[in-house]
Amino acid sequence: MQLTKNFKSEEFIVSKQFPLLLEEIKLTKFDLYKLYILCKTALQPLRDFMQCPVIVSSGKRSDALNDAVRGEGCSEHLFRGYFCAADVTIETQLEELYKAHRFLEHVVPSSIGRAILYLRKSNLPKHIHVSLPTEKYHHVFSISIPRIGGK
Ligand SMILES: [Zn+2]
Repeated sequence: MQLTKNFKSEEFIVSKQFPLLLEEIKLTKFDLYKLYILCKTALQPLRDFMQCPVIVSSGKRSDALNDAVRGEGCSEHLFRGYFCAADVTIETQLEELYKAHRFLEHVVPSSIGRAILYLRKSNLPKHIHVSLPTEKYHHVFSISIPRIGGK
């Protein structure tokens, strides 16, 4: 289902590493509504600003997929209650994700629960975790640096 100009609901059921775990993941009506709000208020404005494809690398996860990718136990990717999150990235010029993160923080902050910019050891960005605001998280902007020894 087309949610906004450049985002479809199908894009939010994705895993490059564990495609077999996607079969059991279904989007409920409420999930579609949350994704629509996430796209309408944060991801589509970001896409328009970046002027390049914004790729969803992780959207809704099942418990099995969340465990497989070692997500937090109460990850926003599980879409429980009002939780709704997506990891987004771009194809080339990954340093542009610094700009994307600043856009979320300064232009559409009220649409954001958490916007976490994940970096590799080289300080090259990997992706941005973007979630809807909830009682638990609202307007949290941070940068996650890999631990020594991690990847
Ligand atoms: Zn995430």
